[in-house]
Amino acid sequence: MSSTAIPSLLDAHGRRIDYVRLSVTDRCDLRCQYCLPKGFDGYAEPAEWLSFEEIGRLVAAFAALGVRRFRLTGGEPLMRARLVSLVSQLSVIPGVDDLSLSTNGTRLAAQAAALRQAGLSRLNVSLDTLDKQCMEQVTGRDSLESVMAGLQAAREAGFALIKLNMVLMRSVNAHEVERMAAFCFEQGFVLRVIETMPMGDTGRQSGYMSVEEILPSLVQRFDLKPSAVTLGGGPARYWQTADGRGQIGFITPISQHFCATCNRVRLSVDGQLHLCLGQEDRVDLRQPLRDGASQEALMTLIREAMQRKPERHVFREVPEQLVRFMSQTGG
Ligand code: SAM
Repeated sequence: MSSTAIPSLLDAHGRRIDYVRLSVTDRCDLRCQYCLPKGFDGYAEPAEWLSFEEIGRLVAAFAALGVRRFRLTGGEPLMRARLVSLVSQLSVIPGVDDLSLSTNGTRLAAQAAALRQAGLSRLNVSLDTLDKQCMEQVTGRDSLESVMAGLQAAREAGFALIKLNMVLMRSVNAHEVERMAAFCFEQGFVLRVIETMPMGDTGRQSGYMSVEEILPSLVQRFDLKPSAVTLGGGPARYWQTADGRGQIGFITPISQHFCATCNRVRLSVDGQLHLCLGQEDRVDLRQPLRDGASQEALMTLIREAMQRKPERHVFREVPEQLVRFMSQTGG
């Protein structure tokens, strides 16, 4: 098939949807303060989880509709048993050009090489701090060492473009942005600084601050210039060091939202297709799957679902709107 013949999945606002984030579990071994409350145990039951076969069928349906990029997420995706075999299965589906993973890194050391071999192309690792105590405060557990070991293993496994996602929090880790940037430039990772979103009480109470507040000092310290790179086609706006070797991205869902160019939808572990991170609009794909829907019927459901994708989130206007936590949707 020539590239011009790739079908396009369009929503009602003329946006092309070419990226799906797939949650493979809503469970997590960390309790990041902006994400899941301490003691949270309101997880989906295993019977509600999509099986690997069901996930494969949905990925094939999206791919047949022109979606080329898929990201496995959660919860913590490395907590789903036999994830490597899911990666092997999905990476060979025709049309799946880019299969990536978001992880907190705690279990990466043991799995990085196998994931790479199974066909995973890219990795994002969440890391909010380089300080052991701060890490414990943010994630609820002494987890820094395991994440560092995971990063090392990922590099050794041959993952080239490893992005580190840092959620920016006033009075928690904002003072560490320069240190994180220096670490990433030195180690060859791409740092992305992300504004906290008001998802659940955790998200609302975690010290949101605008990226604009930390940008000038970073620009000055590292002599940064705006960069034209997109690095994966997401919403980050990149800046680069003067020699062009270091990139740093800023993701600003609150201070400067990017809904007009939104290109993604999210599938939660229980088969709900979430059409916007900041709205409740969703379509159930699990029941049709379990009722025996054909691939054509699934594709029709997905096409129709796109017509219900909201124009934008209202995180700023109605911050109290969302009661679900990020890990329940698939972050
Ligand atoms: N466990 C994996 C990880 O840590 O990357 C994947 C799931 S996690 C929910 C995905 C991303 O969402 C992480 O980078 C996390 O920091 C981010 N996140 C969670 N809650 C958030 C919030 N309220 N605002 C902004 N980012 C959030």
